[in-house]
Amino acid sequence: MTSQSDAELPIHDFPTATGVTDFVHNIAAVRGKIAKAAERVGREPREVRLLPVSKTVPEDRIRLAVQAGCRELGENKVQEAARKSAALADLDVRWSVIGHLQTNKARDVAAFASEFQALDSERAAAALDRRLQAAGRSLDVFVQVNTSAEPQKYGLPPEDVAAFLKTLPHYSALRVRGLMTLAVFSSDTERVRACFSRLRTLRDRLRDSDPDLLGDAGLSMGMSGDYEIAIEEGATCVRVGQAIFGARQVPDSHYWPGL
Ligand SMILES: *Cc1c(COP(=O)(O)O)cnc(C)c1O
Repeated sequence: MTSQSDAELPIHDFPTATGVTDFVHNIAAVRGKIAKAAERVGREPREVRLLPVSKTVPEDRIRLAVQAGCRELGENKVQEAARKSAALADLDVRWSVIGHLQTNKARDVAAFASEFQALDSERAAAALDRRLQAAGRSLDVFVQVNTSAEPQKYGLPPEDVAAFLKTLPHYSALRVRGLMTLAVFSSDTERVRACFSRLRTLRDRLRDSDPDLLGDAGLSMGMSGDYEIAIEEGATCVRVGQAIFGARQVPDSHYWPGL
């Protein structure tokens, strides 16, 4: 396990959004930065999907975010996501699970999620497919890649992704939409950028060698602290929590064991 010094970690002081107007303001600010980042590299802002991440946020505040226009929400933990999707079933929200899956939770994901962004094993693919087939549902998936070579991070090593993708047509309830990664947590933006550019290079190579493997070959990368860099490097989906909802009180180690 590597551990990072505090000085190396980015610091966030996003204020907590407590009313609909706060959410409207925060979402507009993030969309504005998305547009600027896209334009810097000659991309269309509408090529970038904003996935708001509501982990740790209580249901009453999620309702405000939905009133402010959020139509999809990302959650890192299956149990938390399942509970919230049931409690908020009256809302028209598409749920995306963006954290590691233990296969004993595959049935829950198959029941409520529209998307799973952290697929990194054939075991998980098989478990999800079996539950989805039984439920008559399908699921959009992104294959998670470990682009930082940190041992504590989930995701496949880049060199294993091609072989893994070749197994996925067997699981017909899964619709492959692209690759996902978490960059290194660092204030050294060149190290962060290198992770994103690694994912894009891998995507390009896979798409060139076999266009059918990767679906629409999306790139889910970038969070509150680094989404503008990710967009410059080709992100088609950014997963943004704290810049919309406010700083989290729960330490990130709760979500990323080993940090
Ligand atoms: C929490 C989380 C995010 C969002 O992080 P923020 O710092 O809140 O923007 C993105 N991706 C994953 C996998 C996460 O767990």
